[in-house]
Amino acid sequence: MIETDGRVKTSLASTEDAYKHHLNPSLSRLLKFSGYYAEECHAEGVYVYDEKGNRYIDCAGGYGVFVLGHRHPAVVKAVKAQLDQMPLSTKVFFNRQLGECARRLASLCGGGLQYCFFCNSGAEAIEGAIKLARISKGKHRIISTINSFHGKTLGALSVSGRDIYKKGCGPLIEDVVQIPFGDAEALRSAINDNTAAFIVEPVQGEGGIIVSPDGYLQEVRKICTERGVLFIADEVQTGMGRTGTFFAVEQWNVWPDMLTLAKGLGGGVMPVGAIIGTAEAWKPFQENPLIHTSTFGGNQLACAAALATIEVITGENLPGRAEEHGKYFMAKLREVQERYPDIIAEVRGRGLMIGVEMIRESYGGSIIFEMSRGRVTGVYTLNNQKVIRFEPPLIIEKNEIDQAVAVFEKAVEKTKKTFVK
Ligand code: PLP
Repeated sequence: MIETDGRVKTSLASTEDAYKHHLNPSLSRLLKFSGYYAEECHAEGVYVYDEKGNRYIDCAGGYGVFVLGHRHPAVVKAVKAQLDQMPLSTKVFFNRQLGECARRLASLCGGGLQYCFFCNSGAEAIEGAIKLARISKGKHRIISTINSFHGKTLGALSVSGRDIYKKGCGPLIEDVVQIPFGDAEALRSAINDNTAAFIVEPVQGEGGIIVSPDGYLQEVRKICTERGVLFIADEVQTGMGRTGTFFAVEQWNVWPDMLTLAKGLGGGVMPVGAIIGTAEAWKPFQENPLIHTSTFGGNQLACAAALATIEVITGENLPGRAEEHGKYFMAKLREVQERYPDIIAEVRGRGLMIGVEMIRESYGGSIIFEMSRGRVTGVYTLNNQKVIRFEPPLIIEKNEIDQAVAVFEKAVEKTKKTFVK
C-alpha cells in the first residue's frame, strides 16, 4: 500500500506473504530462518534499523556495496540535486555527468586505462568486458579461475567458477577454461592461439576471501602481455578503496587491460557499474560506436552518485582508513580465533574485506544466526559457506569494530556450546 507521502506502508507479515506468493517462497524461508526475520526500514552510516527500531551494525555491508556506509550526505546531496535537474539521459545529447565521471575514473588509473563504459551492475560490466575482449581480439577463449564469482547473467556465469549456479542453464558460452587461482603456470598452459582474455578477481570474494599470492598478478600481467591476451581484473567487490587502495591491483603494482567496477561505485545510493579499458580493449567501439550500449547505463543520477563517491573516497583517504581499520579488525578476530581454535580455522583478508573460515560448514549458519540476534549483520561467501565475511563500511569506527567482534565472539561461544561436546 502506498501512503500519500509516497512511502510503502505495510507489515512484516504482509511482506513475508508477498515474498511467499509473489517473489520467491524458498528465499522467504531462508531469510526467516537465517535470523533475519525483520524488514530493513531505515539506514544511516554503519547502521541499519528494522521495523521495530532495532539497530544493527552492518558488517555484511550489502556484500561490499556500502563503502561509504548508508546514505552518505555528500552522495545523497549530489543525487538530490541531480534529481531536480535531469535524472535520466535522452542518449541523444552529450551527457556532462557521464563525461566527468569517465574522466575522473581514468585519472585514478595507470597502464593506459583510459576509456569507460557505464552500466548498472557487476554482471553487466562482466558481460561487456567479455564481449569487448572477444571482438577486440577476434578470438573466443576466455580463461577464468576455479571458485571465482563474476555474476549470474549467462556470460558472467559462464566464466564463474562454481557449478551449483550453472545447473540446468547450459549450454553456457563456449570455450571457457577454468584454472586454479594463484597459479600463473596454469595460465601459461591454458592459453592457446584462440585466447582472448584472462579474467580474475585480485581477491576472490565469494570464493572465500582469498588474496592473490605474492607475485601472482605481476606474473599474470607478464604472461598476458607476452602472449597477446587481455587481462581483465574484476574489481566489482575489491574496488573503491575496500582493500586499502582505490583499486586492489595497485597493491601488486599492475594494471590490467580492462577493470570492472560496480557495488561501491554508486556510493551505496545508486546502482552503477563500469568497465575501464585501454585503447586496445576499446577497438570494437572504433568500428561501431553502438556495438555495446545500455539504455540506463551512465545516466545522470548514477554518474552524480559515482562522482560524489569518488570525491569522498579520495578526499577522506578511505582506502588508508580501510587498511588501518582492516588490520585492527583482523587482529581482534584473530584473538577470538586463539580462544576458539576448535571453531575458527583462519582469519584472512585485505583492508576491510575480511573472511573468517570456520572448521566446519555447519558452524557458519549458527554464528550468523546468533550475530543477527546480537544486532550485527553477517553473511557467508556464496561459493564457500565455511567463510563468514566482514565487509563493513570503510567509515566504521574502532569502537564499532570492538562491538561487532564482541557480538561475534558470543555467537562463536554459543555455537561451540551447541556443536562441540
Ligand atoms: N564480480 C564480482 C567479483 C562480484 O563479487 C559480484 C557480485 O558479488 C559480481 C561480479 C556481480 O555483481 P552484481 O551482483 O552487481 O551483478
